[in-house]
Amino acid sequence: MSSPTSAGDPTPSRPPGAEFCIDCGPETALRPDDTADGAASGARCPRCGWERPFTRRPLLLLTGPSGAGKTTVTEALTRLADDGGLPGCAVFDVDLTLHVAALGYDVWRNTWLQLAHGLAGNGLATLLCGTIVPDQLAELPARMLVGPIHHAALDCPDDVLVQRLRDRPAWRGSDDEFVARQLGFADWHRSQVGRRFDTHRSGPAAVAAEVAAWVREVLGTPTGPAPETTGGAR
Ligand SMILES: [Zn+2]
Repeated sequence: MSSPTSAGDPTPSRPPGAEFCIDCGPETALRPDDTADGAASGARCPRCGWERPFTRRPLLLLTGPSGAGKTTVTEALTRLADDGGLPGCAVFDVDLTLHVAALGYDVWRNTWLQLAHGLAGNGLATLLCGTIVPDQLAELPARMLVGPIHHAALDCPDDVLVQRLRDRPAWRGSDDEFVARQLGFADWHRSQVGRRFDTHRSGPAAVAAEVAAWVREVLGTPTGPAPETTGGAR
């Protein structure tokens, strides 16, 4: 399969995801170069002092157990974004790059941080919809490349979750053990994630609109008519 042009393919000599000094080499991991407000910043080599400036933007995570409606709400969010409803933010279903997980789940998650970093360089924040939670990102090399991480979750009553999972086609492997795991994951979300959107009483488009309002709130994006504030606006 070699061709003359394959000579231009980059050699993956650096460890996947590592952020290190180009002069000092892979042994020298860059460190965050935080400004006082933590907004626009960069990274610095602890050995030679080389600085790599970049802009950090918020990363938003929308998670939830299987059956909570991630796929349908993500599709609705994508349509909403396509219509201009999420200015300054790119939306992804994290499964889009799931093949990368063949290299390891941390490589896959780190790749999303790197993509979010690349999008920040284009003036965009990133909303990742799927099963990536903040704790799984905290220690990754590219964590320093993105700004604050905000987490929200989709939720529905347990009996609704169970019914949705039982109604799935057999090939999806939604057996008793899987259902029990998802109920546990739903509980975990209820105890750990303050911002939750119910997918039982509202349809996907309405839930997506609520999620979009949360995104605009996080990003400080104007929402059209000025909201009535009672003071303390950030
Ligand atoms: Zn260096």
